[in-house]
Amino acid sequence: MNVLVTGGAGFIGSHLIEKCLKKSYSIVALDNLSTGCRENLASFSAFKSFQFVEGSVLDTSLVNELVEQVDLVYHLAAAVGVRLIVEKPVQTITTNIIGTENILAAAEKKKVKLVLASTSEIYGKSEMLPFKEDGDMLLGPTTNSRWSYACSKAIDEFLGLAYWKEKRIPVTIARLFNTIGPRQVGQYGMVVPRFVNQALKNEPITVYGSGKQTRVFCDVEDSVEALIAMGETDQSNGQIFNLGGLEEISIKELAQLVKKLCQSESEVQMIPYEEAYEAGFEDLNRRVPDIEKAEKVLHFVPKNSLEMTLNKIINYIKK
Ligand code: UDP
Repeated sequence: MNVLVTGGAGFIGSHLIEKCLKKSYSIVALDNLSTGCRENLASFSAFKSFQFVEGSVLDTSLVNELVEQVDLVYHLAAAVGVRLIVEKPVQTITTNIIGTENILAAAEKKKVKLVLASTSEIYGKSEMLPFKEDGDMLLGPTTNSRWSYACSKAIDEFLGLAYWKEKRIPVTIARLFNTIGPRQVGQYGMVVPRFVNQALKNEPITVYGSGKQTRVFCDVEDSVEALIAMGETDQSNGQIFNLGGLEEISIKELAQLVKKLCQSESEVQMIPYEEAYEAGFEDLNRRVPDIEKAEKVLHFVPKNSLEMTLNKIINYIKK
C-alpha cells in the first residue's frame, strides 16, 4: 500500500511511519519541519520504500501531486501544543483549516481514503465525562487563543464529515487524547517531556495552576496501532474515534511520579496559569476518554501502563 503521512517528521507521524514500514507499506512523508525534525526520520533512510518531501500542506500543487500517488493519506500536519497555539494563533488557524481543506480537495480528486488527526481539545470544558464521540463541545470565548485550536480542529472535522456525506470520500477522524512517548518535545508545552527534562536536571518541576487538573495519557505505540486499524477497515469510514489511555492522573501526582522514576531531587514548584501562559488562560479540569467505540470497531486496547511509558521516555531523554 502507498501511503502519504503529512506531518511525518513530527512525534506521532514518525511513530506511525515506523509501524507502517514494518508492515511493508511504501511511505511518503510530507513535513515543513516547523515543529517536526529530520532526526525523527533518521532511522528510515535505510528503507527504499521511504521518501521524505520537505514542504507544506498549504502548497496546493505539491499536495495534489503527492496525493495522486497514494492509496491512503494520514493527515497529521497541524499546529500542536498549547504554548505554540497561544503564541502563534494565526499560524494555528491557517495551517489547521486551509491545510486540511487542501488535503480533502486532493483526496476527492483521487478518491482516496483519508485518516484525519483531530484532538480531545474539541471537548473543551465539557463536564460530560468520560468524553464520548457524540458528546457536546464546550469552548471558551474567542478572546482566549487556546480555543482557536479546538475551533480549527472542529472545522476540520466538519469538513471531513461533509466530504464523506456529500462526496463519499472515505474519511475517518481520530480524536487523539494526551499522547506521549519518545521523540515528543516539551518546547511547545507538552507536560510529560517537560517534567522528565526538569527532573533529570534536578531543576524545579513546574506544575501549573492547582495541579489538581487530571489527564489520561496514552502511549504513542498504542495510538498508532489504532491509526493503522483505521486505515485498514472500511468500517471506520465516516466515523470519529477517541484514542486515549486508561489511567487518570492529576498533574501534581504526575510530577511526583516522574520525580520518583527519575530518582530526582527536584522540588515541585506551583506556577499560576497567567505566569505560565497569559492572563485569562483557561485550563481543563478533567479530560477522560471513553474508548469503547475504538475497542469495538478497531480492537483498540492500550497495552502500555503509564509507568511503562514514562520509563521509556526517561530512557530516551537520558540518551
Ligand atoms: N502543565 C504543567 N506544567 C508544564 C506544562 C503543562 O503543569 O510545564 C499542565 C497544563 O497546564 C495542563 C497539563 O499539564 O493542565 C497537560 O498539559 P499539556 O500541554 O501537555 O496538554 P493539554 O492537556 O493541556 O492539551
